Amino acid sequence: MSQSLVLLKPDAVRRGLIGRILQRLEDTGLRIRNIKMYDPPDYCHILKHYESTDEWLFNVGKKTIEDFVSAGLTLEEVKRDYGVTDEMGIGRVVKNRLIEYLTSGTVVAVIVEGNMAIEKVRLMIGHTIPAMAAPGSIRGDYGTDNAAFAAASKRSIENLIHASDSPETAEKEIDLWFGSGC
Ligand code: GDP
Ligand code: MG
Repeated sequence: MSQSLVLLKPDAVRRGLIGRILQRLEDTGLRIRNIKMYDPPDYCHILKHYESTDEWLFNVGKKTIEDFVSAGLTLEEVKRDYGVTDEMGIGRVVKNRLIEYLTSGTVVAVIVEGNMAIEKVRLMIGHTIPAMAAPGSIRGDYGTDNAAFAAASKRSIENLIHASDSPETAEKEIDLWFGSGC
């Protein structure tokens, strides 16, 4: 038995998807152990939740450039939408927009429990970028956003849901949202 920390992000709440997403998790046999609404969450929670290392910033920047290239866009367009073209610079812009996104409305924090809960929920949410997420996954079924489309409006990719990616992050995230907080 293990526990995963799920966040229903502001776009999921705005679109009235709380019930449907939780239903999908419960349908698999996973159980909801706790729910807490943050209306909206404060910066401290989001900063602690996304404690991004230099490696994360670089990789997000790299992924964003690749996403632009695969959408047939150029480095000039990266510059137009991010103000910079280097991986670390883009990573920092993405991080700031991510904080704006997560503090823009209500977030629902959920503890999900069950056999292989962390792995199962990650499989169910699908790829980070909804446009690339498989049909049948939560992000794939309810979204089509990608980096280039989001960046044209100078906002974060909106992908409805977060889920812990390892036992270590699950423990830390459950403590942040349900325990000692900020
Ligand atoms: P997740 O675990 O699938 O949510 O993805 P990450 O932990 O790598 O990233 C955290 C959040 O940052 C994602 O859910 C997105 O909202 C945002 N993000 C991640 N990668 C990118 C990217 O390449 N471009 C942009 N614009 N946002 C991203
Ligand atoms: Mg993550």
